[in-house]
Amino acid sequence: MPERKRTRAVYLGSLKIGDFAPISVQSMTKTDSRDKESTLKQIRELEDAGCEVIRISIPDEESLENLKDYVACSSVPVVADIHFNHRLAVGAIKAGAHGVRINPGNIGDKSKIREIIEAAKDAGSLIRIGVNAGSLERDVLKSHSAPTAEALVESAIRWVEFFEDEGFFNFKVSIKSSSVFVTYKAHLLLSERTDAPIHLGITEAGFGEYGVVKSSVGIGSILMAGIGDTIRVSLTGEPVREVRVGYAILRSLGLREGVEVISCPTCSRTKIDVETLAQKVWRRFRHIRRNLKIAVMGCEVNGPGEAREADCGVAGGKSYSLIFKKGEIVEKVKNEEVLDALERVIEELTNG
Ligand code: SF4
Repeated sequence: MPERKRTRAVYLGSLKIGDFAPISVQSMTKTDSRDKESTLKQIRELEDAGCEVIRISIPDEESLENLKDYVACSSVPVVADIHFNHRLAVGAIKAGAHGVRINPGNIGDKSKIREIIEAAKDAGSLIRIGVNAGSLERDVLKSHSAPTAEALVESAIRWVEFFEDEGFFNFKVSIKSSSVFVTYKAHLLLSERTDAPIHLGITEAGFGEYGVVKSSVGIGSILMAGIGDTIRVSLTGEPVREVRVGYAILRSLGLREGVEVISCPTCSRTKIDVETLAQKVWRRFRHIRRNLKIAVMGCEVNGPGEAREADCGVAGGKSYSLIFKKGEIVEKVKNEEVLDALERVIEELTNG
């Protein structure tokens, strides 16, 4: 597991972020925030998927009107996403949002940012300082000639110092570029300069497989460097997928507890439908909240050996399959009994 860098603790409602708290998984509603019914439906879907922080765009007064109901109906902290308009940010905090995400660079005058800070102080809300390549201050851009990693960090640290000088510390920072490499480099530099918790994401990652891969490489490489306290995978498409991918990234690095199903790539020795069985295994055991690696292997000859590091698993045969635990074969069962046999072994492992 990557060794995490210590950051200070901040609070989004009752959710602790930083100081080695579990890395939380966020997503964002994609409905029109003025449309209460569809937004509430999406909030429920995200909660069901295990999303731990829900961000909602508040682009206008009508959306702001609905925000208190979104906060009231959500069982997880709600962050209002605000651009340009500091009054909406102050209004969102007063409406009960647990946090606001602002890009100080597009809010304008510092007095407006001070108003947001004061409102957050009064309400105990969190502010996410979002810096991105598209909205760097003119002087920063001029001195670096391009939105480089160094330019992003200079802008972020400028705001970190501003917030701290105002006596406000309940904030986290995000820096975004659609370039994976620039984002990676910027995070290494940023974590040297501040102990504020860091929100990770790769902006405009795209859609489908490419979006998942780009997010996983970007977020994964930064997590591997020990950096990151909360993540959001940004994908075009339904937000529940962002949550699933977020957890998969964290589980693949051993950074969140949970079940990991590994399966062999299959080859000419394969005796069972590995993909279908792996999906069934995942659905049956995904609720278990502790680290457990379950292997689904396509043949009895190489399967148990190749999956030796798994906690338990199945190696499929034509009619019968082998069930193994910690590398040792413990049962031979009919193929239709595989899931029940695995459950027995998992009970021994989790209760033992
Ligand atoms: S476990 Fe068996 S079926 Fe799967 S890839 Fe290895 S040799 Fe092939």
